[in-house]
Amino acid sequence: MRYHRRMEHRCPICRTAVANASAGRRPYPFCSSRCRDVDLGRWLDGAYRVPVTDEAPTEEEIALAVAVERTGFRGDA
Ligand SMILES: [Zn+2]
Repeated sequence: MRYHRRMEHRCPICRTAVANASAGRRPYPFCSSRCRDVDLGRWLDGAYRVPVTDEAPTEEEIALAVAVERTGFRGDA
């Protein structure tokens, strides 16, 4: 899909219309430094969390492991 340059651009965080004329002054493409920080925070959050795979297991994983363990022991014994 081709990107068309228009007079209006929307902030990727809050979808507020950002005028191109303000691109030089504002933290473009965000409408404000607050939204820029939100985006940066999301990016850092993902960057720090994704590589961590051997963190504590989730409740779902524990429940599954316990269920497998129980059926395995009782099935063979
Ligand atoms: Zn915004």
